Amino acid sequence: MGVQSIAKLPEVQLVDLQAQYRAIAPQVNDAIVQVLEDADFILGKAVTKFEEQFAAYCGVRFAVGVDSGMSALELALRAHGIGPGDEVITAANTFIATALAISHCGATPVLVDVNPRTYTLDPEAVAAAISPRTAAIIPVHLYGQTAEMDAVAAIATRHNLLVVEDACQAHGARYKGRRAGCLGDAAAFSFYPGKNLGACGDGGMITTNDAAIQDRLRKLRNYGQAEKYHHVVRGYNRRLDSMQAAVLLAKLAHLDAWNALRARNSEAYTRLLADTGVVTPFEPEWSSSVWHLYVIQSDERDQLKGYLEHRGIRPGIHYPIPIHLQPAYAELGYRRGDFPIAERLALRILSLPMFAELTDEQLQYVADSICAYCGQRRDEAVAA
Ligand SMILES: *Cc1c(COP(=O)(O)O)cnc(C)c1O
Repeated sequence: MGVQSIAKLPEVQLVDLQAQYRAIAPQVNDAIVQVLEDADFILGKAVTKFEEQFAAYCGVRFAVGVDSGMSALELALRAHGIGPGDEVITAANTFIATALAISHCGATPVLVDVNPRTYTLDPEAVAAAISPRTAAIIPVHLYGQTAEMDAVAAIATRHNLLVVEDACQAHGARYKGRRAGCLGDAAAFSFYPGKNLGACGDGGMITTNDAAIQDRLRKLRNYGQAEKYHHVVRGYNRRLDSMQAAVLLAKLAHLDAWNALRARNSEAYTRLLADTGVVTPFEPEWSSSVWHLYVIQSDERDQLKGYLEHRGIRPGIHYPIPIHLQPAYAELGYRRGDFPIAERLALRILSLPMFAELTDEQLQYVADSICAYCGQRRDEAVAA
């Protein structure tokens, strides 16, 4: 009894990949063993099959597997001829890979501010950022929710711009009923382990309906060869390997069920946090989010984060520093104050534990802990 009473605090990770593996271990193990037995490691059967199934899942004609989400973004831009002298517009509050992909193909990232409620590209800010050099827009489907794609498409049509979706957090998300991946000229997905569909390592995918673009992508990812040792362009080694494709094929069968559980968890959080004073996520009627992250806003984000950590909960911040304030992008010449919404969000956002296997007890514990913190602060305010 004495031992029980000092039992350690429950631990709630931001994402628990061990829980996912426990639930589907035989399927993942079998998939890996099959690749080993076939010794079919590079651009093998599993890659082709996964590309076909992922394209069908997204509602597009083609999907090309690559080695990461950042490669998917960069090669999508390159395949469309984006390069030096071009400007590519994207959000100031994204993961660094979006901007790096633009830089690595020789183009210049042009950052814009976001909608304060959806956290995705503000179409008016995009329109205001257009210059004679603008060649493309990368809307980021942040936290699993699609950007305002009709407004983005209207601007792109007016100015003859390419649209590449950054769908790295949005496997299965819908915009007006259509899946992320078929909402622009091309889309980039990441299979980093913690994403909604994650590999046992790195991986990525480009989706497109354009046969010529998919052909170019297949060359670019594989040394620029059309057939072995015949190199028609100076390509790269950016292939998705068969082992990862086999794992991803096994997991793709679960993606919709996992996304439904994430949606259920997010509804529960929103209900349980209703009276706490924290800002819970907003979902416009045209969006069907896949809740890659469940992000709240708090006036006392750092204190709340510390309080939760003290109770064994591991929240995250996505992301603490907007792109324009990163040292890596000092040369773009932006200053603090340039994107006030993205900057304010960076100080206020907190990502709560979110994954399909999150138990009701874990979710209740996280919500209770936030309620306890907010209650304490209210009592202090009354007493003062
Ligand atoms: C994860 C992610 C990427 C990059 O994916 P990697 O596979 O890690 O290279 C790009 N953009 C966004 C928004 C992401 O979340």
